[in-house]
Amino acid sequence: MKFGGTSVEDARAFGRVAELVSRHTASRPVVVVSAMSRVTDALLEAFEAATRGEHEAALRSLEVHFERHVAIARELLTAEAAAEFGATVEAARRELEGALREASGQTRPLPLLQDSVVSCGEQLSSQLLAAVLRARGLKASHADARRCVITDDEHGRATPLREETERHTRELLEPLIDEGGIPVLGGFIASSAATGETTTLGRGGSDFTAGLVGAALRAREIQIWTDVPGVLTADPRVVKDVRTIPRLSYAEAAELAYFGAKVLHPKTILPAVVRNVPVRICNSRAPASPDTVVYFDAEMTPRTVKAIAHKTGVSIVHVTSARMLGEYGFLRAIFEVFERHRTAVDIVTTSEVSVSLSLEDTSALGPIIEDLSRIAAVKVESERAIVCIVGEGLRSTPGIAGRVFSTIKDINVLLISQGASTVNLTFVVEERHAAEAVRRLHEAFFECATAELLAQIGGH
Ligand code: ADP
Ligand code: ASP
Ligand code: MG
Repeated sequence: MKFGGTSVEDARAFGRVAELVSRHTASRPVVVVSAMSRVTDALLEAFEAATRGEHEAALRSLEVHFERHVAIARELLTAEAAAEFGATVEAARRELEGALREASGQTRPLPLLQDSVVSCGEQLSSQLLAAVLRARGLKASHADARRCVITDDEHGRATPLREETERHTRELLEPLIDEGGIPVLGGFIASSAATGETTTLGRGGSDFTAGLVGAALRAREIQIWTDVPGVLTADPRVVKDVRTIPRLSYAEAAELAYFGAKVLHPKTILPAVVRNVPVRICNSRAPASPDTVVYFDAEMTPRTVKAIAHKTGVSIVHVTSARMLGEYGFLRAIFEVFERHRTAVDIVTTSEVSVSLSLEDTSALGPIIEDLSRIAAVKVESERAIVCIVGEGLRSTPGIAGRVFSTIKDINVLLISQGASTVNLTFVVEERHAAEAVRRLHEAFFECATAELLAQIGGH
């Protein structure tokens, strides 16, 4: 059972989590928890301030968050347990003070220090949650996720090593579970196999921790408890009339997550697929509301389209060279540049003499352009957005692309990709048009009379 930041935002939310876990004790749960809401952002901001030399102000800016934890402990724990947790917070404060000071003096590599700072959010929330569960009479014990999830040493977005992670997770957690205990781990945080230092799995990475732990333990189900009723037909922050999608295939969920559905970290699905564990996305605020199950089944619905995802802040790199005409090795040369700068490419399209690629991570864009310019002419467009239509059977159903593009015919489409996966149709528009495109597509596929009729015929 993984609980996201909004599921542990205050004392009431902690209470709800305790209630949910206690209802599931017969299934022998393992609990993974994110940092309390806003804490990771605050830690990252504090870290940034420290690198500018403002480490004292940075630590002060975190006081309000320490206080949030302490207040919950005071409200939900016995005086003795609250005092014990107070000491944990004090230790975290000292650790942060040291790490922020080091960041200010840049005495150790910054990515390493950043992970040590940012990991405090999950360290605190997981210890607090374990204590809250014990206060409810559950046999919960805190387990250090850094001893379970073992990664490479790419700080900030480390990659777990599968075998080590499975072995360590089982060794640490199985004895606890066998004794009837409920292990409580922080999500997102891990440690490097090479150095033992704290690493993190990338923003939103607690879902991934749940996937890894669930797979390692051959869980019956991985439950992602969040603030919405499952995976919805579109981002609820953009579309009003969204609905819960009851079932998704692994492939559909992976595409949605990858192309912007924040409700699931894109890497969550992979360990689940390998071990064949279903993933359920549920609402911690209203546990009786509908939810989504992600599993192998590739079910086609009468609508075909199951959801629309989008992601803003995307850049497109156009690479043009006459050398590409009838030549081989050119694509390799281009992709080597992205590999060298450890930058993932989302969409690729090609013509005779040019290649266009979309990127989300533009932190290395300068050096990438410099390297690409040695082999071709390069042009970059920023402030773009990817829109992705997802549904099993999409590639083999006529009329979908026609309907998509006629629905947004006055919005300029800059790049299109379909066919590489059987379940999605993806295209790029200017960022300022993305919300409008998603709203109109949602209306066309889910809200208009034909869409409703189709759904009724299919009994969905
Ligand atoms: P948590 O803190 O539980 O990890 P997140 O904020 O990471 O929660 O993810 C949940 C949020 O994802 C929702 O509140 C919603 O705004 C957003 N979201 C974006 N697309 C979708 C979608 N298709 N279905 C559900 N939620 C979505
Ligand atoms: N706390 C981390 C973040 O905010 C991880 C997570 O919430 O999944 O990115
Ligand atoms: Mg999340």
